[in-house]
Amino acid sequence: MPFENERSNKTSHGDVLRNPDVVSFLSQCQVMTPPTDAEGMAFASQFVDPPSRDGVDLPQTVIALDGSLYESQVYPGQLPSTRVGYVKVSTFMIDTHQFAGVVDQASGLVDPFRLARLHDDASALSIALPGPNVRYGGRATVREGFRAALERHFLSPNTWVDDDPKKSLRATLFALAANRSQKSSLYTGDPKVIRLHKCPNCDEVAGPGQRIEVHDVADPQHCPHCSGEIFATDCLRIWEAVAEGAPIGEALGRTMSVVEHIMPMHYARNIAAADLDAISGVTFFVDGPLAVFGNAAWIHAGILRMYNKINTYLVAKGREPMHMLGLQKTGGLREHVDLIERFVGPDRILPVGDEYRYKHVSPRDVSQMDPKDEIGFGLETYYGQDFIYKTPGSKTFVFAIPYPFESKAESKAQTGKAFKQAKLELQRYPNLAKILKVLDYFESDLYTNASIPLALAHQHTAISLMPGGKVLDIMTHKKLTK
Ligand SMILES: [Zn+2]
Repeated sequence: MPFENERSNKTSHGDVLRNPDVVSFLSQCQVMTPPTDAEGMAFASQFVDPPSRDGVDLPQTVIALDGSLYESQVYPGQLPSTRVGYVKVSTFMIDTHQFAGVVDQASGLVDPFRLARLHDDASALSIALPGPNVRYGGRATVREGFRAALERHFLSPNTWVDDDPKKSLRATLFALAANRSQKSSLYTGDPKVIRLHKCPNCDEVAGPGQRIEVHDVADPQHCPHCSGEIFATDCLRIWEAVAEGAPIGEALGRTMSVVEHIMPMHYARNIAAADLDAISGVTFFVDGPLAVFGNAAWIHAGILRMYNKINTYLVAKGREPMHMLGLQKTGGLREHVDLIERFVGPDRILPVGDEYRYKHVSPRDVSQMDPKDEIGFGLETYYGQDFIYKTPGSKTFVFAIPYPFESKAESKAQTGKAFKQAKLELQRYPNLAKILKVLDYFESDLYTNASIPLALAHQHTAISLMPGGKVLDIMTHKKLTK
């Protein structure tokens, strides 16, 4: 690979900053700078007291998800470049009532055997996907093979609940699509039909007279225009990032992100359907903001609606709702918090509003914001509200919990307020104290460990879960031993 070296030698850092064009360019840019003490105090004054955790119990069951990806050269050193990608999403169930996790109680040291068992590959959903120069399943192109492989993984028995092929991860994808924004021309409301925006084979764009639909049946499905095979997972539009001869890193990242966010709903809806007591109070814990980016972002609305529907049902049936929490350990908001946390006192919280974000985190000229825009930040991506929280022990976390509305657009009918204001009112998040309890309890481990499941497993018994199969067995067993 001589080109990579050539490129890096062409310029050095000093040359760039002496270049008059670059100097002129920088003089026309506004950048954020670290806050002064006065600004820091002003930030801190916006924080409020969080709800009390007195009498709030830790959730008994926490289900944590952990994704990773890897792109591997199949024949190193040989041309043409031949690559295969892997996405791995592991799920761990932590029973907080049972102590003795991976730390040996007598010695206080981490037990390497228990740790290895937690990271046992066999317990994760491993998604192998074709990259450059790999045509999967006799397909004509890398992209076609990628699409076919992704569909196969969503249908894999590894994802079935109760050994039932009708309860695959693909079935959950259908259910989420049926809960997508009703304003979308691709909305069907039917959990048995997914509408695609265009055919990945012939590029025919769907229109009023030309629907391109995939049904939740086992038979192969075909585009009405070109008769090419189409898949339910085509709706995630990950294939658009797969091009002949190019690395598939971006497509792998999108796959991992989508699966990490769909999986909690796959568990939740199937557990809820089998046993309301088993899903009641369960807390899902994911890495990063509660948002889906890229072409699959539309699915965020399906997740938001499904989460709130299940919880509305649980509350109507007299049960505790389930909970969900996303923890951000990197990103712009986390970096901002690193700069201001010394100004904030212990046990304080801030729901991050749009104006705050645009002024201090993601630069944007607030005066140019459309005053008629009632939704605001994250319209097409976010399904959870970001909070900055300083624990009583003075550790600072950036976390998110799902918005307490089935949809952003419909929230106004419920609250009488614009979504961007209503989302900031703490009393609308009745489970906030529960989530803070989790953060308070695990604060040291969450702070020092990069992996959330590992942090939680330090003190408690953790069971690695297959993404489907054994969930019901374990949840039912849990109920019996309560
Ligand atoms: Zn077609």
